[in-house]
Amino acid sequence: MQNSKFFGGVRDNLTFRFMLATVIIIITVMGIKFSWDYSEEKKQTERELIEKAQIISEQQKALMEFVAINQNKINYDSKGNFEFKHLSCSTVAMGVGMMLASETEYRINPTNLQYRNVLNAPDEFEIEGLTRLKENPSTTEYFAIKEEKGEMVFRYMSPLSIDENCLNCHGQPQGELDISGFAKEGLAIGDFAGALSLTMPMDIYMDNTKRSLFSNGFFSVILILVCVTGIYSLVTKMVTSSLGELEQAVAQVGAGKWDVNLTNLKAKGEIKRLTKHFQTMIEQLKDLYTNLELKVEQRTDELEKGNLLLQRHKQELEQVNLRLKESNLYKSEFLAVMSHELRTPLTSIMAFAELISVGIPPKDTKQQYYLKEVLQNSQILLRLINNILDLAKIEAGKDQLVLEVLDMTDIVASVESVIAPLAQSKELAFQVQVAPDVPLTKADPEKIRRVVENLAGNAVKFTEKGGRVGIQVQLDDLSKEIIIRVTDNGIGIREEYQAYIFEKFTQADSSSSRKYGGTGLGLALAKELVELHQGWIKVESRSGGGSTFIVGLPVWDIE
Ligand code: ADP
Repeated sequence: MQNSKFFGGVRDNLTFRFMLATVIIIITVMGIKFSWDYSEEKKQTERELIEKAQIISEQQKALMEFVAINQNKINYDSKGNFEFKHLSCSTVAMGVGMMLASETEYRINPTNLQYRNVLNAPDEFEIEGLTRLKENPSTTEYFAIKEEKGEMVFRYMSPLSIDENCLNCHGQPQGELDISGFAKEGLAIGDFAGALSLTMPMDIYMDNTKRSLFSNGFFSVILILVCVTGIYSLVTKMVTSSLGELEQAVAQVGAGKWDVNLTNLKAKGEIKRLTKHFQTMIEQLKDLYTNLELKVEQRTDELEKGNLLLQRHKQELEQVNLRLKESNLYKSEFLAVMSHELRTPLTSIMAFAELISVGIPPKDTKQQYYLKEVLQNSQILLRLINNILDLAKIEAGKDQLVLEVLDMTDIVASVESVIAPLAQSKELAFQVQVAPDVPLTKADPEKIRRVVENLAGNAVKFTEKGGRVGIQVQLDDLSKEIIIRVTDNGIGIREEYQAYIFEKFTQADSSSSRKYGGTGLGLALAKELVELHQGWIKVESRSGGGSTFIVGLPVWDIE
């Protein structure tokens, strides 16, 4: 564990990596040089050996030729003794070869696949050489470097061919004994006659190669040592020591210590510049960091203050809201009480007015007219008071639906009885229609009556004399809703006002309130009442083109 950590550290070290790279480069270059030198030396040695072998072979051949030419001129001894009598060229060649072998490590011997003398029998290399040379008459030599008895030797073979001097012993007639007592082979001029085989020692050459290898190796080791030492001291001095200091400074900054001073760092070139830029960067970072901290503090302060302010506003708003709720409740309660108190005297005014109207003679039209006006205006006032009372109840959450069986025919008839006289007095055509398939449903009949009455009242109010007002009730089979339409061909409502008319105390425009009166409560109440029944209300209207108020009421099963 310790070891691997140490080596890991060393491997990460810049100097070590430089040295390793250098050693690898030197070894590679020297390796290439070695193999180049070795192959060149091998080629050179081979060239030298071939040249030497060629000379020796040619010398031997010349000797053999000389003997072949002159053998008839030399005295001949039938016993074949080594005297200068009856010499054959191969005998001379063998003899010279043997003498050479006794004095040097060189061996030269004529050889052939069909040999006359067992001393000329070819060995393995020679068999191979002879076969090649015989098969390829144009080949002038055959050679190889071989290891024999633990020594490296150069083996060389030069082919022999029959010329006119050879015919005496090797020519025709085949089988006839030649002067040395061997049977002639019957060969012709130019025929292959074996080869001279030469074996040369290679110790000197091998020694040379070894010496050059050794010197190259030695030189490489020295080179590696010098380079490694040089690189180590140069890299340490010029790069790693200053980089080390820089590294420490970076680590210090990383740990949040900004007081780093690199101005005295000894470095040159790129590292010097790097150090300078780094120092500038640290200064800027320091400024930025300090400013940032300051800004964060400021912003946190501001946020906290803002938060406090927000909380205060929230509390204030909550209080205001509470007060508003309370005052709304007071208002609703006040309105409810007031409306109730107003309604009681109004009902008695209306009752007495009706009583008086019975006693007035029909001729007294003036009195009749006054009383009719009293009654009609009381009706309007009563509707207004009822509206206020109902809205106040709804807002106070006190209004509950009194669910009963609702028959739309009854409702429409009841509204008709109230609205018809009003319509009549304005000379309006008033029509009601309830489709026969409209079913009974469950609802609060009084409230639905109020809705229809309000809508019809408005229709009459906003339609000029001679106009038309109508109430139609149908069943929408698809949505299972009762659809109530209150139509008129009165003044209509401009499109921009249509979105607001269902809000409390809202009227289409101020001129209409002046001309037609009203408080802007009727539609708001109608909407509330319809929605209490889970229904809906909408208007379709065009300025000057009349209005249609449509109410949708869900049909509920009646048990
Ligand atoms: P108001 O007491 O003013 O009639 P409503 O809530 O009933 O209050 O109506 C609000 C306003 O909607 C009216 O002031 C009027 O401008 C407009 N409006 C309602 N019904 C009709 C209608 N049938 N034709 C034209 N305008 C209408």
